[in-house]
Amino acid sequence: MNDDSTGCPMCRRWDDDADLRIVEFAYSYLILHRDQFFPGYCLLFAKTHETELFHLDQAVRQGMVEEITQVTAVLSRLFRADKINYELLGNMVPHIHWHLVPRLTTDPLWPRPIWAEPHQELLLTPEGYRERCTLIRQGLETL
Ligand SMILES: [Zn+2]
Repeated sequence: MNDDSTGCPMCRRWDDDADLRIVEFAYSYLILHRDQFFPGYCLLFAKTHETELFHLDQAVRQGMVEEITQVTAVLSRLFRADKINYELLGNMVPHIHWHLVPRLTTDPLWPRPIWAEPHQELLLTPEGYRERCTLIRQGLETL
C-alpha cells in the first residue's frame, strides 16, 4: 500500500459506486463506467493503492493482466466490438485503473481516443445499470 492513498477516489470507488459493481477479482475490481456513451465501457482497478505497473509484484501484475483479458474477451463478444481500447493513464487519479472500452467503427469518435473530443454522457436508469452489470457478470461466469 502506497502512502499517497489519502483522499484517493479510486480507493473508495468500490464502495462509492456500489450500483455499478460487476465483479471482485483476486487482484482487481471491475465496475461499469457510469457514462455508457460507449456501451460496455468498464473500469478495472487495483485493489490496493498502487500507481505504476512496475510497483506490483510480478504475480499480481500477471494476474491482473489475466483478469483484464477475461473481461475484454467478454466485452468484445457482448458488445460486438470492432476493437477494445485499453487505457491506463493515471494523470488525474494515479491509482492503477484501466479504462476498458469496446469500440465500434461506427462510433462518432472512431478511430480517435475516447477523449479526443467531448461527448454527451449517456446515463442509464438504475434498472439499465443493473441489467448491464448482470449481463457482463454472467458473461464472465460462463467463460
Ligand atoms: Zn487509491
